[in-house]
Amino acid sequence: MDRDADRLFHTGRISRRTAADAPLAAAEPRSAKPGRSLLSSSLIGSTNRGRVLQALFDLGPTSRAELARLAGVNRTTISGIVQPLLDQQLLVEGEPIPASEGGGKPARPLWFSPDARPICGVLLMPGSVRTCLVTLEGKIHAEHEGVLPVSSPHLPETIATLSACIERTLGEARRTPLGIGVAVGGMVDTDRRAIVRINLAPVLDGCSLGDELSRRFHLPVLLDHHPRALLVGDRWFGKGRGVRTFAVVYTGEVLGGALYLDGRLHRGLAGAGGELGHTFVQVDGDLCRCGRRGCWETIATTGWLRRQARAIALPDADTIDCRRLVQLVEAEVAGAADLLDRYARNVAVGIANLQQSVAPNVFILHGDVVGGGERMIEAILRHVRRLVPWRPSGEIIFETGETEDRAALLGAAGLVLSDLLHFPL
Ligand SMILES: [Zn+2]
Repeated sequence: MDRDADRLFHTGRISRRTAADAPLAAAEPRSAKPGRSLLSSSLIGSTNRGRVLQALFDLGPTSRAELARLAGVNRTTISGIVQPLLDQQLLVEGEPIPASEGGGKPARPLWFSPDARPICGVLLMPGSVRTCLVTLEGKIHAEHEGVLPVSSPHLPETIATLSACIERTLGEARRTPLGIGVAVGGMVDTDRRAIVRINLAPVLDGCSLGDELSRRFHLPVLLDHHPRALLVGDRWFGKGRGVRTFAVVYTGEVLGGALYLDGRLHRGLAGAGGELGHTFVQVDGDLCRCGRRGCWETIATTGWLRRQARAIALPDADTIDCRRLVQLVEAEVAGAADLLDRYARNVAVGIANLQQSVAPNVFILHGDVVGGGERMIEAILRHVRRLVPWRPSGEIIFETGETEDRAALLGAAGLVLSDLLHFPL
């Protein structure tokens, strides 16, 4: 390793991965990581490549000279790192940017090649599966979906349906995908790459899905809990790019979330963290589907909204969502504005608890509340500001994520990307 490469390695802002070497073209499952070990020279090389690619994701198209300046190394070092990536068609050089008045050669920004090997993203929800290919630029194509026979007690049948959907998507890839990422709408053991439990699809409970899909498709497979996948998608392809600390909150029929703290996704032991929907907001409150009472999920989901809408006889109460509620508010339907305010307050209560516990300050919202647009987001923010004591430099920022399925598919692909880039999740 030359001194510049050493410097880039040690000055990189991402903490090192303590795993055996894993070349970019073949990520290994997370479960294969051993404990702390010394870094081989080849791992240092691939770590530096990963860091340069991470920087590109965060900065957008960037020239070699700019990358060298930001990393504090010379251009030759950067060129040594990026040339193999250009040769592998992972990166391409863009049109030259005219040199500044000071002269010098026009710079050619580096960016991800549309011809780079894609990633297969999978969204597995109770009763349905969606699959697609995601390019390294974050473009989605080759989308397919299938209905999972979850009421069937036969796991092989469910796996066969899921696999057929993945196979259709893989069949459209011009180059072998880099791996398969799966976002699961249920509890996941990320260390074992296994599903712990999906409430409405018990046939998959305990299924070692990662191993199963690796065996079938001979590709690296990573899986994670749906809200965490949303966060990973935001980190690589969305509003979380370049942000060191943020939280993701998803609302809908269920409520979930994930935390990205100081450049790392916080998963908790074996992926058990992030069950935000089942944090308590009301002692002896309503019964939750988890069997306990007073969970945040009991007061900030579409189920709660529909019960309340029925109680005050709002139109479309059985199917109402935040988008429809806002329409009713705008049409000045009696009771709608008050219900929207209560819904916003209930969502805000959990966000305020999160802010008080870990102070992420930046919240990326996904799911139903996003459908309510600015009016709903503003209402939630107003309540959060009331619930959280003001402090200097403590500004709370709300962003909204991509549409629901797209965000999850990007996130699923982002799980594989993180592994390829030696990015510790
Ligand atoms: Zn609960």
